[in-house]
Amino acid sequence: MRTLSTVAEMSEALEPVRLRRGRIGLVPTMGAFHEGHLSLIRRARADCGVVVVSLFVNPSQFGAGEDLESYPRDLARDHALAHAEQVDVLFTPSLDEMYPHGYATTVEVAGLGEILCGDPARRGPGHFRGVATVVTKLLGICRPDVAYFGAKDFQQTAVIRRLVEDLNLAVTIEVCPTVRDPDGLALSSRNAYLSAAEREQALSLKRALDAAQRAAAEPGASVASVAGAAQRELEAAAVEPEYVQVLCARDLSALESLDDGEALIALAARIGRARLIDNAILKPSSAKIETGEKAVGFDPARQMSRERSVR
Ligand code: AMP
Repeated sequence: MRTLSTVAEMSEALEPVRLRRGRIGLVPTMGAFHEGHLSLIRRARADCGVVVVSLFVNPSQFGAGEDLESYPRDLARDHALAHAEQVDVLFTPSLDEMYPHGYATTVEVAGLGEILCGDPARRGPGHFRGVATVVTKLLGICRPDVAYFGAKDFQQTAVIRRLVEDLNLAVTIEVCPTVRDPDGLALSSRNAYLSAAEREQALSLKRALDAAQRAAAEPGASVASVAGAAQRELEAAAVEPEYVQVLCARDLSALESLDDGEALIALAARIGRARLIDNAILKPSSAKIETGEKAVGFDPARQMSRERSVR
């Protein structure tokens, strides 16, 4: 594995791969690897001849007062894990390399970047502007054939699919299923902030998704009944959500009825220092309800992952 930190080194390393028409897979990350990150890397490893993992804690996607300074960082551990997963290139650019003096361009995905987590009352549109800008830059630097993202950050995948389509970027976006701890908590670098008691409380997010899933299977289920079922689980654990929303999974538009297309339930809550998000695709009422990861909508994500962003 090569560890490279400049754009020039990346071009030099990847040009021969492009010349021999090798397939390049990119996994953008902010490091502090967990099994969620490793699942994307393994997927890229299975699909592509050359796997690039970028590791950059992107300041422009953190708001004022957010956890940029304290965000978990462990380059030595990440390096060892990437090496063990047979990553070809670990790209670790400096802040100056990504945003040199005079840097002036941002990418903003209107609409999609301004709802849910991007709502001005929450992280605000600056968060997704930061994400869209850094991902566009990473796609420009690595020019991958495929880039891999996790369904846990569902809104992020919607923003990225949109920008790739709008900017005519020749890359396929693959969305991989959310990886969870055995107790259901979606893996996140920010779980490291949780005390034991907060972690118990955080499990209510998955219970809320499961309750929503069951409510969606009830006869006469509605957007309100599904959101209400999720909200009650959070309330029972004394978790006050930032949002609980049932939306169209395709474009995150408002849904009048659960029959109006594939529905997504998305939620966010602050628990102690950690701001946690989770989501599930709601199965229609005719579907058999099972428990566990796959029953709460991760198969549809897999199905979505097969859709090509460049249509
Ligand atoms: P991050 O380092 O948090 O920016 O995440 C890098 C990538 O890993 C993003 O595409 C995330 O959606 C993805 N990811 C984070 N957590 C998970 C998880 N629990 N399961 C699957 N993918 C994840």
